[in-house]
Amino acid sequence: MEAEAAQWLRGLFSIHHREAGNNHATKVREVGLLIGEMAGVEQESLEFSWRVLTEGTPAEGAVLKVRRVPLVGRCAKCGREFHIEHYDFWCPVCKDGVLKTISGREMQVEYLEVD
Ligand SMILES: [Zn+2]
Repeated sequence: MEAEAAQWLRGLFSIHHREAGNNHATKVREVGLLIGEMAGVEQESLEFSWRVLTEGTPAEGAVLKVRRVPLVGRCAKCGREFHIEHYDFWCPVCKDGVLKTISGREMQVEYLEVD
């Protein structure tokens, strides 16, 4: 998972690099990420990868703000939505439906702040 996160960050960074070139931006101040509860990414490994990737680049020293997205599922039977806890995917109300994940697996950039 750690390698996956690093690869994802690398992709994100190269996209940003291009955009920064177009906008003549010189410095990245802050990067906001949306990480789902179930994306399998630890904040420490993200921060570590980020530091390594941005060393010596305009994004060096940028603040990485991570917002966790809760794991939410909707019951396939009764249609109610629940925060899924302990990876229990059975509907706690009708006890007959499987919860289909509607959020909590995402891994995306919410915003970029550049000078
Ligand atoms: Zn249900």
